[in-house]
Amino acid sequence: MAILYSDSNQTASIEPQVAEFRFLLEQFADLKIMRYRVPGFDLLTLKQKMLVYYLSQAALAGRDILFDQNYKYNLAIRRTLENIVENYKGDRNSDDFQRFMVYTKRVWFSNGIHHHYSKDKFFPEISTEYFETLIRETQGGEFPLRNGQTLDEFISEITPVIFDPSIAPKAVSQEAGKDLLLNSACNFYEGVNEKEAVDFYKSMSHIEVDTPLSYGLNSKLVKKNGVITEEVYKIGGLYSGAIGQIVFWLNKSATVAENQHQQKVIESLVKYYETGDLTTWDEYNVLWVKDVDSHIDFVNGFIEVYGDPLGIKATWESIVNFKDLVATRRAETISLNAQWFEDHSPVNPEFRKAVVKGVSAKVITVAQLGGDCYPSTPIGINLPNADWVRKEHGSKSVSIENITYAYDQASLGNGMIEEFAGFPEEIALAKKYGNLAGNLHTDLHECLGHGSGQLMPGTRGDELKNYGSPLEEARADLFALYYIADPKMMELGLYDNEGVYRAEYNSYIRNGLITQLTRIEPGKTIEQAHMRCRQLIAAWSYDLGKENGVIEKLFREGKTYVKVNDYQALRSLFGQMLAEIQRIKSEGDFNAGRNLVEKYAVRVDQVLHAEVLERFRRLNVAPYGGFINPVFIPEKEGENITDVEIGYPEEYTEQMLDYSKNHSFLPTYK
Ligand code: ZN
Repeated sequence: MAILYSDSNQTASIEPQVAEFRFLLEQFADLKIMRYRVPGFDLLTLKQKMLVYYLSQAALAGRDILFDQNYKYNLAIRRTLENIVENYKGDRNSDDFQRFMVYTKRVWFSNGIHHHYSKDKFFPEISTEYFETLIRETQGGEFPLRNGQTLDEFISEITPVIFDPSIAPKAVSQEAGKDLLLNSACNFYEGVNEKEAVDFYKSMSHIEVDTPLSYGLNSKLVKKNGVITEEVYKIGGLYSGAIGQIVFWLNKSATVAENQHQQKVIESLVKYYETGDLTTWDEYNVLWVKDVDSHIDFVNGFIEVYGDPLGIKATWESIVNFKDLVATRRAETISLNAQWFEDHSPVNPEFRKAVVKGVSAKVITVAQLGGDCYPSTPIGINLPNADWVRKEHGSKSVSIENITYAYDQASLGNGMIEEFAGFPEEIALAKKYGNLAGNLHTDLHECLGHGSGQLMPGTRGDELKNYGSPLEEARADLFALYYIADPKMMELGLYDNEGVYRAEYNSYIRNGLITQLTRIEPGKTIEQAHMRCRQLIAAWSYDLGKENGVIEKLFREGKTYVKVNDYQALRSLFGQMLAEIQRIKSEGDFNAGRNLVEKYAVRVDQVLHAEVLERFRRLNVAPYGGFINPVFIPEKEGENITDVEIGYPEEYTEQMLDYSKNHSFLPTYK
């Protein structure tokens, strides 16, 4: 699990000073396009700004690589569509043309003709005749014709590739019993079947025992005249044009590195791109993991293997970022006070840890996304992937707060809060404090919650079996819920208004009892550990406080709402529940744990579920989202850069056309 992706349809808050910034740009098919801000960029030194600028150019330079890796026709199709977008002279307002545009935007979004998530081929909702008309009535630009190919031949080659469902139906097939390579459209293998590829790499796996190289990570495996060879991604090898540009910008980055170590990191990456040598790749990763003092950091390379059904070959990706000092300080404050929180925890004193150390969460601000991180974007990074490097040298694990913030802000307009929060005060609290409350909850959960408490002598820790993970999540969540309303939070300066914990309590109960049901299919029970945890806590506290009306269920015009009536009483219940779940864990009480989970966390009220799904359907919220990038504009005097300005474009189509024009370095066909 190297990269984490956000749950969609979360709800959150707003900061008055950025209310004018448009986070949600457009929505089509099952996608929404958003953008993110880069707070803190203006506070960087000129040298740091230049470093961000150069690294961002390196992040954009590899885009074509990903298109080609996903499917061998993707660049040809993209260039065909873009030529029509730019030069078609017919009616551009017709329904057909709008449908053509939706298809084009989907291809840009997925970096190819297969859905970025399901990996299934998707299709334009236009006829092949209309598509042919578009090509013939486009004048001025160029279509990606092969050498000596006529326009007619071109049309008969490209049309079925786009429209025929039997051609390349899946980018990555995982269908058991069928040859995974021959049934996958991804472009990591040519003329090679599954067995040949597996055998090819098996023969190498015995070479280093302690520090195994990631064989096959950065190459295409090709069979020619009966011989299987690797075409390595490197300068002078496969994808040389794009890699040359990446290296050009990395070399510039090295001249403005923040310190000598960071300079070595960049130089080692350049050496890897020049040679394709996987030993150098590991050397680079070891250096990268140790670069913890620099303010600015980046990911750049062939890294994740989800695009290959065999999980050997990596797609190209890049992220440029710098430390989020405010958020990191917030997490550090909580972490530094770990002992105080442990000593005051409402659990039985013998279940408390005598000496506890908080985990310090690192938070970053993303400044640019590229390749497989764009436009669909991770919200956290945990790299490198090589197990032996992680074991011997550690890894970097960070969360990306400006992206989660933008997700939250973009979701404000989707109507979720208005639909599911029952009262104007509740909606206002959510909008004002929801984001900060959510971040504090995550900090308390991650930095303290999981690490708190201890097992009794004789308890091994695996007694709770399949109920272990929802109960563990509930323990960490209850720790966070109990402490987010503690006066200590204000004392530490973590917030200055009680509205923060009220917003958190409202949204937690609302989500646990109602809104998270939007992610469950009709008739299904709850399986996922985090979702079980949330329903467990919300339903159990509702039950415990029922007599005193701590939480109330209301029905209005056929809609169900929940309302927290007594926040302090709810906090006491959270403390009581934390004490019990800690006891269950400390003593390894399987029966009590199972009874709680089975009673509260698994089953779904069918009538309520149907109601919630219908309310959600009417909101028309796109399930998947992605982000366009900011632009960095260097100001120059002669050859010298005197400042770098940041701009926030608003047009998805424009950014995509700009990237294809100015950051495109590969030929259509190899
Ligand atoms: Zn957790």
